[in-house]
Amino acid sequence: MSAVPHSHLQNFAWSPEADRWRNRYAGLSEQLQRERGVALGSAWQGDALPMPQWVVLNQVLARDLDWPEDWYQGQQALNVFSGNTVWPGMSPFASVYSGHQFGVWAGQLGDGRALLLGELDSPIGPQEVQLKGAGATPYSRRADGRAVLRSSIREFLCSEAMHGLGIPTTRALSLVASPQPVRRETIETAAVVARVAPSFIRFGHFEHFAHSGEEGHHEALQALVDFVVTHHYPELQSSPNRALALLDAVVARTAELMAHWQSVGFCHGVMNTDNMSILGLTIDYGPFGFLDAFDPNHICNHSDDRGRYSWNNQPQIGYWNLRALAQALLPLIPEAKDDSQIVIDVLQTYEQRFPQAMRARWRAKLGLQTEQEDDGKLAVELLQAMAAGKADFTITFRRLCEFRSDVAPDHPANAPVRDLFLDRAAFDAWALQYAERLKAEGSVDAERAVRMRRVNPVYVLRNHMAQVAIQQAQKGDYSEVQRLYQLLQTPFDEQPGAEADAGFPPDWAQAIEVSCSS
Ligand code: AMP
Ligand code: MG
Repeated sequence: MSAVPHSHLQNFAWSPEADRWRNRYAGLSEQLQRERGVALGSAWQGDALPMPQWVVLNQVLARDLDWPEDWYQGQQALNVFSGNTVWPGMSPFASVYSGHQFGVWAGQLGDGRALLLGELDSPIGPQEVQLKGAGATPYSRRADGRAVLRSSIREFLCSEAMHGLGIPTTRALSLVASPQPVRRETIETAAVVARVAPSFIRFGHFEHFAHSGEEGHHEALQALVDFVVTHHYPELQSSPNRALALLDAVVARTAELMAHWQSVGFCHGVMNTDNMSILGLTIDYGPFGFLDAFDPNHICNHSDDRGRYSWNNQPQIGYWNLRALAQALLPLIPEAKDDSQIVIDVLQTYEQRFPQAMRARWRAKLGLQTEQEDDGKLAVELLQAMAAGKADFTITFRRLCEFRSDVAPDHPANAPVRDLFLDRAAFDAWALQYAERLKAEGSVDAERAVRMRRVNPVYVLRNHMAQVAIQQAQKGDYSEVQRLYQLLQTPFDEQPGAEADAGFPPDWAQAIEVSCSS
């Protein structure tokens, strides 16, 4: 083979073959528009973003998509991922949805700053690629369609942190920054995150077509259910009632997701129905936070003054949101026309599914291998003891991995975890129960420690970690963003040089305020 001339390398512009883009959602919209006069959104284009620069790239995900290592080289890829141009085969689209925000019906919302570039056929299945912050769309409601660098770094890092933790989430592929000014409380600068997921459909998409009462919306609602079932829940295709079967599956996934969040101390911050994924993914990272000092009533979103979305409330809000979804699906369930009990029954499975999922998570976190009635109680009592002295959530569970059940709770070997509790007597009382429980199932401490270290992370994306990365990035240094991205890929393994990331947050972390401003 002859050598590639140098000039060709400089002009390198890789792109996936045009026929790998499928764009089925935009296709469905076109079909509905033709047949029913109803669209699911609008074909749209990004606004020009001046002087884009890569901040961080997710090469692990790019590899999963089967892209070459150097896919991002050359100006074209940078322009695609900042919304300035498209690759052949992409058909950018902004979708419409509605939703309940903070418990109140908010009416029409939509992709106000998100732009679906297309759906790529890949070895990990069809994946939608979406830009966030690529400019105003028909759904921007007078907002600017932009996202600032600060919140985009948080979204990129947390998406991948959650993925590293094994929690269902939309992914982040790239982050681009631009000097373009964006007005928030102060003047900040623009950034664009590329997100990847099998689908970005939210509960709010269903609510939109259920509640408008407009002509053709009922058919659009049915088409939406059929689309989601066919492409994302194919096992439900032959169900006698697809909408009811879909509700059942989403109840199950949401219960699992809530248990996942609780188990790592993740607080989403804005659990509005438009921020709930129909696939049970964590979506829309805004004022999220991981618990530092454990306070079950912790509110991570400064704009949430009543604490509707506090850590402790999340599972209940998940249920509330599922109710809103059920309400939206009701018109498609003829059996529920006179008596909605059949739907309520499905919805109410959450009352068993969530606690069951939660108990399974606590059990894993405690290294328990057998199931017992009062495992939930054991976990709750630990949390109560932690709350009394605001023990650090992540550190407590990680140190518990090394708990020695063969010596007394107050033995010096147990001091690292015991000393985290203000009320040592409360810890001792709990630890005795725990040790007894471990003994009863013939648990071996060393083996249990290995198991526990696989589910109790050393590293989570604490606010102060993101904050340091943001401050450096705002000065043009992206190395801390890149370092955290790497670190959070494997959050269960201690990594050399990252001792500070495994430690307690600094005092200034308490003063960090994150709000809906993003
Ligand atoms: P959120 O609660 O942040 O998920 O946003 C709620 C709604 O507001 C969604 O429809 C967003 O697309 C829209 N939105 C938020 N920020 C902006 C912005 N800067 N420009 C346009 N739309 C926005
Ligand atoms: Mg949102």
